[in-house]
Amino acid sequence: MFNDKDLILEAKHVTRRFPASGGRELTACNDVNLKFYKGKTLGLIGESGCGKSTFMRFLVALDKPTEGEIIFMGKDITKLKGEELRQMRQHVQMVFQDPSGSFNPKMKIRDIICEPLMNFGRIKASEKDAVARKYLEMVELPGEFADRFPHNMSGGQRQRIAIARAIALEPELIVMDEATCALDVSVQKTIIELVVKLQKEKNIAIGFIAHDLGLIQSFAHQIAVMYLGNIIEVLPGENVDKAVHPYSLTLLGAIFDTNMDFSKKIERLDSEIPSPLDVPEGCPFQTRCPKCMDICKKERPKLIQIGENHEIACHLFKEAK
Ligand code: SF4
Repeated sequence: MFNDKDLILEAKHVTRRFPASGGRELTACNDVNLKFYKGKTLGLIGESGCGKSTFMRFLVALDKPTEGEIIFMGKDITKLKGEELRQMRQHVQMVFQDPSGSFNPKMKIRDIICEPLMNFGRIKASEKDAVARKYLEMVELPGEFADRFPHNMSGGQRQRIAIARAIALEPELIVMDEATCALDVSVQKTIIELVVKLQKEKNIAIGFIAHDLGLIQSFAHQIAVMYLGNIIEVLPGENVDKAVHPYSLTLLGAIFDTNMDFSKKIERLDSEIPSPLDVPEGCPFQTRCPKCMDICKKERPKLIQIGENHEIACHLFKEAK
């Protein structure tokens, strides 16, 4: 299912530390290794504040890790500067939870969609109308919307505009940060259907951040579960019911407990998530794990392969031979 010839971007040992008060350090991402493939979606899930958005921001060069590499098209993008960095940005686009924040409210939809194309000299001003209409149709909106302003549109329509703007540059990878969570469930579904359709047409890799496992497992090819900045399980989206890490099992159970809303407290876990400033030595999940053993308090479990495309960081499991 995942072929190395289709590898678009690889994060290697990515760690991000932030200085905190009292000379302490907050580790938002710890030794994250993930691969993104052409035409495939990687869904990154976890509770709010687990570090998933921090990680995805590295992929679009909005921030740099403290350690590690992000290899895209043969180059480590964490080292790019100036014009090389600017050129790279057209290949990796981002769609935010609230697209309004990235739109200039005084610009018409035509100019919003065409702005990145104009910035990279891909089209002339005289072509803007035809180009905007083409991309509006691609995201299943009427061409006449080119003359509207963002405030004249619904949340779902604005998210379609954000997607049109992102695909206009024909990127290799689109990062979607909780891109549907502010929408009604029925609108969410239509946006996901649109994303899946465009991905098939254009063979784009997608990194989709979500706190909703129920939503993401319906279309992600790979799911990575994050806990306190650590990737604790990676498995094919179609096999999400085969997740075995105690934390992943809690998330699966929480689909029913929280009506699939992971921004709510997960009631199945008795204790609070530790502060990211106070991550315990050993397994980060030990304070909440019903299966915690002595070794879990001393040794941080490494991510190991336990099946085809299935990795886990937990002392309960042994590496597949
Ligand atoms: Fe639980 Fe230990 Fe596995 Fe961590 S390593 S999830 S504490 S069993």
